[in-house]
Amino acid sequence: MNDARHIIRHALAGAQAPCLTSSFQAECVVLTHLLREERPDLPVLFLDTCHHFAETLAYRDEVARTWGLNLITLRAAEPRIGLWQAESTDACCTRHKVEPLFAALDQYDVWLTALRRDQSPSRAGLQEVEPFRLPSGRIVQRVSPLAAWTARDVRAYAREHGIPLLPLYGRGYTSIGCEPCTSLPLDPANPRSGRWGGQKLECGIHIQSS
Ligand code: SF4
Repeated sequence: MNDARHIIRHALAGAQAPCLTSSFQAECVVLTHLLREERPDLPVLFLDTCHHFAETLAYRDEVARTWGLNLITLRAAEPRIGLWQAESTDACCTRHKVEPLFAALDQYDVWLTALRRDQSPSRAGLQEVEPFRLPSGRIVQRVSPLAAWTARDVRAYAREHGIPLLPLYGRGYTSIGCEPCTSLPLDPANPRSGRWGGQKLECGIHIQSS
């Protein structure tokens, strides 16, 4: 935990325009709690994909209100309900997640995320601080202070600080995204295996553009 604080302080000290992306899952809320100690007005970017669980939106609003977050909601220029079904999940994730996020990130130089290495095999090589090239060609520093944390660490921090978590965890979900693309985990050893029916592990926003 001290390492996370050290990483946060170091990242913020060198930042002109930092931001945090949050899906309001457990690690995002824990990281937000840590960041509030240093920068209570930090922009918190939330991707409204138009396909979220109602519980996620209600929880987001409650946390944002209680903590007075500087919440910034991002949406696709032309949202399309059900695109995942009409075309593909890749097309839908690109329109509702990748494009609006990368367009917004062009205004920032430090991008804080709550990614953790043990969330998925696709995140096993995550570094705490790494350059990330946006489609525009700009490089931002992606900073993941919780990279080395386990799910247990996240839960312990939340318990210790009395942080209520998204109620969907109580129904057995271990990774929570859009409602049509989220199920209970298919593989108990992989918390993200309930995303996209196990057909893919990432929506695209954490995949480096070439
Ligand atoms: S997770 Fe599913 S519903 Fe959400 S943007 Fe991606 S394909 Fe669309």
